[in-house]
Amino acid sequence: MIKLAKNFVVGTWSLIKGLAVTIKYFFRPTVTLQYPTEKQPMSECYRGLVGLRPEKCIVCYQCVKICPTACLAITHKQEDKKKTLETFKYNMELCCFCGLCQQVCPTSAIIMTNIYEISVYDRKKLDINLLDMKKYDEWTNTTIK
Ligand code: SF4
Ligand code: SF4
Repeated sequence: MIKLAKNFVVGTWSLIKGLAVTIKYFFRPTVTLQYPTEKQPMSECYRGLVGLRPEKCIVCYQCVKICPTACLAITHKQEDKKKTLETFKYNMELCCFCGLCQQVCPTSAIIMTNIYEISVYDRKKLDINLLDMKKYDEWTNTTIK
């Protein structure tokens, strides 16, 4: 009988302690987000997918040379002394998001975007044409409504 009473007191006290913690946090401001419908804005220095401002590119190949994983590839055409971009491929599968291409670019043509939801079902989508203006539409509109 004494043991039963003791168990009852200990159990009730434990329940009260648990509820006290629940009530304490229930009235505090929410710190979590309902991902993926709500998303945390990324900081400005976040290194997501590589992006390109083609109009700024002077086709110097610095980004291609510095890339440690060889995931950038450029072709260009030359008219007189002017070089024009023909293709600018980015194999995202190989990218380690080191940001070296952005650091070395003399005109800030290549940038690290803040896109981080980069899962795909089709592997071919990892081979990205950086000259395609709609290249990241799929990844920038991934919010599930
Ligand atoms: S972030 Fe690094 S690995 Fe990715 S393309 Fe730029 S240099 Fe290459
Ligand atoms: S380093 Fe910059 S300017 Fe040079 S080829 Fe790459 S993106 Fe273009």
